[in-house]
Amino acid sequence: MTSLNQFAQEQLSLLEAKGQRRNLPEASMGGVSQDTPTVMLQGRELINFSSNDYFGLSGHPNVLKAATQGLQELGTGATAARLVCGDYPAYRKLEHTLAAFKNTEAAMVFSTGYAANMGTIAALMGKADLILADKFAHACLLDGAALSSATLMRFAHNNLKHLEQLLETHRAEYAHCLIVTESIFSMDGDVAPISDIAALATTFGAWLLIDDAHGLGLTNPILNPIAGLDGVVFTGTLSKAAGNLGGYVAGSKALVDCVLNTARPFIFSTALPPAVVYGAVQALEMIATDAERVQRPMRLARFFTSMLGMPEAHSPIVPVILGENNKALKASADLLEKGFYVRAIRPPTVPPNTARLRITFSAAHKDAQVKNLADAVRPWVGES
Ligand SMILES: *Cc1c(COP(=O)(O)O)cnc(C)c1O
Repeated sequence: MTSLNQFAQEQLSLLEAKGQRRNLPEASMGGVSQDTPTVMLQGRELINFSSNDYFGLSGHPNVLKAATQGLQELGTGATAARLVCGDYPAYRKLEHTLAAFKNTEAAMVFSTGYAANMGTIAALMGKADLILADKFAHACLLDGAALSSATLMRFAHNNLKHLEQLLETHRAEYAHCLIVTESIFSMDGDVAPISDIAALATTFGAWLLIDDAHGLGLTNPILNPIAGLDGVVFTGTLSKAAGNLGGYVAGSKALVDCVLNTARPFIFSTALPPAVVYGAVQALEMIATDAERVQRPMRLARFFTSMLGMPEAHSPIVPVILGENNKALKASADLLEKGFYVRAIRPPTVPPNTARLRITFSAAHKDAQVKNLADAVRPWVGES
């Protein structure tokens, strides 16, 4: 018998040799008591520019208050799947709030965004079908495709011509076809040409799934025109801009009911804890009403890119692409020295030779912190 430990060691050595070994950073969140996002690392407090808490809601007093109420009324865990006895009215409220927010008939929440994408894609697609996914689509979208056993093809990132070619060549060979993209891309911060992709979907009789994980509160102007169209499905998460936990699918009533009946990651998994459901409802209400908070991370991102003479930011996510893995690790370590926590992102999360700093801005950052960060990053810009 092969030694399991030896096998595991060999796998780790292979990753190490490629500069792709991952370690938990040992950085812990600074907690909710302060008014700016920080992490603690080796006894030092660093300004956090790596979190997806774009609106600074995960520690907001109103969100904490709502979550505490959920905790006290219903306990720590849901204790069962929704379809067994893990359901409660706060879920319906969250789903109504989400559907209203996305301008769809209905919405349904999963335990995570990962589960929402896996479950939704596998519920809709099967062996005889074709999935066309953007080259930069998130891992869980590809895992959903694998779980569905449909044929998966990738089109070059945001490349309409390539997508059209694939549709032209292959659409007719399959029963159903689903185009899969993100709204704002998680590692690049750029935005998909949604209306053009939707037009291609219509022309070729394909469905369209848009993962809005990083777009909550920001992408309504580009998603609203296609919300409610037959064939359009939105997914996303409550764990990033909404500061809580949970994923969702939003679309027509029939679609959502179909997913409820067939998505295995929904049916066979315990419901979300009550506290995060209450917290997410409160966060969504704040996102819907507090325009200043919602616009701020984008303003800070543009302030940052203009200070460094970089192309203007399209979202609160700004990549500084450095190429080699070790260069990105060195840049991250340099920023750490200067008091900033910015993680290096390496393959396979991003394509080979595009290791980068991924900088994310939050409404909770101060203007001066962003200016200081730009000064610290300046020596690394143009290094790729
Ligand atoms: C983070 C992310 C997810 C997964 O969401 P979780 O709620 O963290 O599981 C899905 N899609 C994209 C594009 C993401 O960035």
